[in-house]
Amino acid sequence: MNRPTDKARLLLQIRQEGITNPRILAAFEAVPRYLFVPEILAGHAYDDTSLPISCGQTISQPSLVAVMTNVLDVGDRMKVLEIGTGSGYQTAILAQLCRRVYTVERHRILSIEAAQRFQNLGIPNISTRIGDGYCGWPAQAPFQRILVTAAAPEPPLTLLEHLAEDGVMVIPIGPTDAKQTLYRLHRQGKKYKEERLIDVRFVPLVEGKTDETDAD
Ligand code: SAH
Repeated sequence: MNRPTDKARLLLQIRQEGITNPRILAAFEAVPRYLFVPEILAGHAYDDTSLPISCGQTISQPSLVAVMTNVLDVGDRMKVLEIGTGSGYQTAILAQLCRRVYTVERHRILSIEAAQRFQNLGIPNISTRIGDGYCGWPAQAPFQRILVTAAAPEPPLTLLEHLAEDGVMVIPIGPTDAKQTLYRLHRQGKKYKEERLIDVRFVPLVEGKTDETDAD
């Protein structure tokens, strides 16, 4: 489940992605991915693949989590907004690298389970919220960094507004079930410098009502 050799293999894979930043490697060393996947899949926790989690969602592939973390370029004094908590694995990685992570998830169950994991692991600098990520987190804005872990047709306007001056947002852009591209947006005043990074495949960023407002 949590065999040291499995994690070492994963760290090697992340290095092979060209990620050598010791802070990022230490974050991956510190967070036990097997606690973020369904128990029945714990044996695959350190495979470099995405895996299914509750509510029809997925925990992202670890090397992609590493690439996204790397391009986000998080500093230890920064406030980070994450949209799409999912299992909370990416959140826990970010929390090793910054002052505080504010993470929004539309599925109540996923948000509660992730918060429980953060508590069990003694990670103190994460705030969770159930809601629509399209609305961001107005009370805590602006953020120096924003990471979106679900794909949108275009960057949500509110999130662009939530980005601090000189802030960076990393977001997959593209249609559902088709080729999406990971973008890095760098805010400079009213302008956003765009960089296309790599092709990716994410679950969609769903706009509108959350579990909280569902009839069930
Ligand atoms: N980083 C997560 C990836 C989860 S997949 C992990 O590694 O586990 C993306 C998540 O985004 C899903 O849990 C999905 O429910 C959530 N999501 C989709 N649309 C959303 C929205 N509008 N607001 C908040 N979360 C959303």
